Amino acid sequence: MGSNLSNKILPKVVVVGRPNVGKSTLFNRFLRERKAITDPTPGVTRDPIEASCIIGNRELLLIDTGGFKLERDDEFDELVSKKAVQMIGEGDLILFLMDVMDVTPEDEAFIELLRPYEEKVILVANKVDTVEKENEVWNLYSYGFSTVLGISAEHNRNIYDLEDAITSRLEFVDIEGKELHNSPDIKITILGKPNAGKSTLANALTKSGNSLVSDIAGTTRDVVEGHFKYEEYDFQILDTAGIRRKSKVKEDVEYYSVNRAIKTIADADIVYLLIDVEEGLTDQDKKIASQIIKHGKGVILVLNKWDVMKELGNDFNAVQDRVRFLFPVLGFAPILNISALKKRGFRDLLKKTVELYNELEKRVETNHLNDALAEWQDFNPAPIVKGKAIKCRYLTQVSVSPLKFVLFVNREKNFPDFYKRYILNQIRKEFGFKNVPITLDLKES
Ligand code: GDP
Ligand code: GDP
Repeated sequence: MGSNLSNKILPKVVVVGRPNVGKSTLFNRFLRERKAITDPTPGVTRDPIEASCIIGNRELLLIDTGGFKLERDDEFDELVSKKAVQMIGEGDLILFLMDVMDVTPEDEAFIELLRPYEEKVILVANKVDTVEKENEVWNLYSYGFSTVLGISAEHNRNIYDLEDAITSRLEFVDIEGKELHNSPDIKITILGKPNAGKSTLANALTKSGNSLVSDIAGTTRDVVEGHFKYEEYDFQILDTAGIRRKSKVKEDVEYYSVNRAIKTIADADIVYLLIDVEEGLTDQDKKIASQIIKHGKGVILVLNKWDVMKELGNDFNAVQDRVRFLFPVLGFAPILNISALKKRGFRDLLKKTVELYNELEKRVETNHLNDALAEWQDFNPAPIVKGKAIKCRYLTQVSVSPLKFVLFVNREKNFPDFYKRYILNQIRKEFGFKNVPITLDLKES
């Protein structure tokens, strides 16, 4: 057995697949990349090899069923395969590797072998060396595994996505059986026009006053970042445009440029789009909103300086309605009011943030989606387009954060927009993606 790094019961991740799909390459990448203390135990040459390693800050046991072949040549193969099958049964998660460009009958035999363990399988399409090859990954969805990921073990593509998928599917438990919380930092970025109150909010949340802003001599940019906790969640405020000493306020306009916003949006889980209620919405806010949607991030429309509005006797519902009316693209985004200055409304803001984060990380099993898809079609059948019946064959979730779904249809061309919207809204409603952007792509199959 591989030796554990600490006193924990390590989750077991088993790597399987026919020879040559890239299992050892992936195995080595995990061990090398994560700089773990590796302890391979190579018993017999073709025995499963295991090593404890760190993936996404979590420690787990990686098991390579290296020499496992379905076609057995001799008694030795027989032994190896017995052991490998046992490993598959005992594994907490199975990474089933295929070569995206070369699917063989042996792969299909593996799929049959793995069927009973479907729920704990991630289908890893390896050798997706280029963007073009990503299209080939779609073909592998038809095997019905709920998670399919295209990677290149050799060229280090999408390895982080794979790591995310692995850690989010496992439970980490310490030796007393206590569940370890697998919650990474929730990354927030605060955007909004100059003077909307971004630095006031960031400082209030981190409660650390000036220490939040760290000027680095010789650089024009301040490196700004803050951490804080709310309940059991760790939050991180990313380099927030506009948090800076007021002497440099002139640069704020540049900070607020759409380009800069895009950069922080990409790194964040959730964006607070801060609006000075006294001033209302700007065109910049709208441009940024479209970027948030494009990146599939969570967003909360935060109406700041509510203390002023309150004094003037404004009604939140009326203001909210107006924002909704002016901002239809963000129809799904929650609207909250706060006073950054008076530290009001923070609890609701953080509660909502956690809610959004959990929605963004939610994965729906493929079989649940397809049961629902059948019902939706029964209830509201797809129309006939140009004399041809439209059929939705299969629905699957491709990723979390951003939330992406793919609908396999018999004909992609002329697929009615309203029907696509219908399916999308059903996904939102039935699976609880109320407040976050989701996308639905069509694929012909
Ligand atoms: P295993 O038999 O499943 O353990 O496969 P290996 O890890 O030994 O890899 C088989 C071959 O595929 C080797 O020549 C690797 O260099 C190659 N390979 C592994 N990953 C990739 C990849 O992402 N892209 C390409 N093009 N080749 C890869
Ligand atoms: P930034 O440019 O977006 O970082 O905005 P600042 O945080 O520097 O705030 C701009 C001005 O608005 C400052 O004078 C703040 O004191 C004020 N301000 C920020 N939040 C509030 C609030 O909730 N209520 C009121 N009345 N003023 C606020």
